[in-house]
Amino acid sequence: MADLAEFAREKGVKYFMISYTDLFGGQRAKLVPAQAIAEMQAEGAGFAGFATWLDLTPAHPDMLAVPDPAAVIQLPWKPEVAWVAADCVMEGAEVEQAPRNVLRKLVAEAAKAGLRVKTGVEAEFFLLTPEGDQISDAYDTAEKPCYDQQAVMRRYDVIAEICDYMLELGWGPYQNDHEDANGQFEMNWGFDDALVTADRHSFFKFMVKSVAEKHGLRATFMPKPIEGLTGNGCHAHISVWDLDGTTNAFAGTGSGQTGEVGLSEQGAQFLGGIMQHGEALAAITNPTVNSYKRINAPRTLSGATWAPNTLTWTGNNRTHMVRVPGPGRFELRLPDGAANPYLLQAVIIAAGLSGLRSQADPGPRSDIDMYAVGHTITDAPKLPLNLLDAIRAFDADTDLKAMLGDGFAASYVKLKQQEWNSFVSHFSRWEKDNTLDI
Ligand code: ADP
Ligand code: MG
Ligand code: MG
Ligand code: MG
Ligand code: MG
Repeated sequence: MADLAEFAREKGVKYFMISYTDLFGGQRAKLVPAQAIAEMQAEGAGFAGFATWLDLTPAHPDMLAVPDPAAVIQLPWKPEVAWVAADCVMEGAEVEQAPRNVLRKLVAEAAKAGLRVKTGVEAEFFLLTPEGDQISDAYDTAEKPCYDQQAVMRRYDVIAEICDYMLELGWGPYQNDHEDANGQFEMNWGFDDALVTADRHSFFKFMVKSVAEKHGLRATFMPKPIEGLTGNGCHAHISVWDLDGTTNAFAGTGSGQTGEVGLSEQGAQFLGGIMQHGEALAAITNPTVNSYKRINAPRTLSGATWAPNTLTWTGNNRTHMVRVPGPGRFELRLPDGAANPYLLQAVIIAAGLSGLRSQADPGPRSDIDMYAVGHTITDAPKLPLNLLDAIRAFDADTDLKAMLGDGFAASYVKLKQQEWNSFVSHFSRWEKDNTLDI
């Protein structure tokens, strides 16, 4: 649909939410009446960029969010409103650090190499009480609650409502389940071009939170909302295709161990890029202080964290950072629920393209149970232990930063460093518990 005013007339839309995502993943919007949408589509909606996380100052000129009509979605739970993803522009130029612009640039970069990256995400979430401090279902207490039939049915009204909406939107949802933590759920839909997946991922978070609120609950994608339970991952599945999207360039039997699991030479090099940039990648795939309570975590109540600790890849084994579940694609298990939907896709493409350019070697495959005997692997790099290590690894990775855009990288490092500083200046209970009598 190229013309939003016409879309409004056809669908009975009264308001558009012109929405952009800032560097911390916050979704920011203006509600624009349909009567004013034609002008907004041409000019963009005005925002004071400094008021959000974009590394702009109060003295900067107005930032305009120009809606992308290809990314309009009528809210299934409130059809008089339509959400539309927007691209940030200032004085006629794209705001280079705005996440959707970063991703669009990487998608174009891949296209220049004749490639089209297609991805799917598994955005796990918890359903909590409205205050956010407890699981909403008091009976959801099993030690191994994964796929709990009774518990998923107690939340049928929420899960089925969201799945019905995905069906209506044509996303191709195919399964929903209770996940590995008490109160945790996962809903899966089809994979698509990285930009489409990023827009849907953003909208999915908005939709899940909105539907949960409607039912008197609170949904959270926070990486580790409850101590001792499995955290919210956001695994990304990745394949790369030719430009018309018909031939999977990752499928094949290239050579060596990657060939054995059904990856082409290109697939192996793309994976090599992910492995080479793994430590830096974490600053984006695991972007909050809390993210590091999920990776490198002690064993959870269910018996496994299902999150990686080390930069290793494997075949169909869920204890490593990268799993190759079948020919022609791989799964990156590192990202968590705090990952910015646009930057997540952008950093995957950036690392992958870098791998293709340098013909990166992903290193040896490992098939061990990392949770039981991970300590026996001594030569694989460890994932960062905290956000500061990740920011520093990212800042040191000049190749990855250049791929993403140096302007973006500088803004990201600056704001994340500020966030870390704010965290460490916070006086914690742990300090008193452990060092009062020192
Ligand atoms: P698992 O829990 O086993 O990791 P899921 O079924 O929950 O797998 O999620 C798989 C995700 O991978 C879905 O989003 C799916 O659309 C996506 N996917 C499947 N095949 C491909 C592919 N060839 N390229 C990219 N994504 C894919
Ligand atoms: Mg004003
Ligand atoms: Mg899954
Ligand atoms: Mg899962
Ligand atoms: Mg998975």
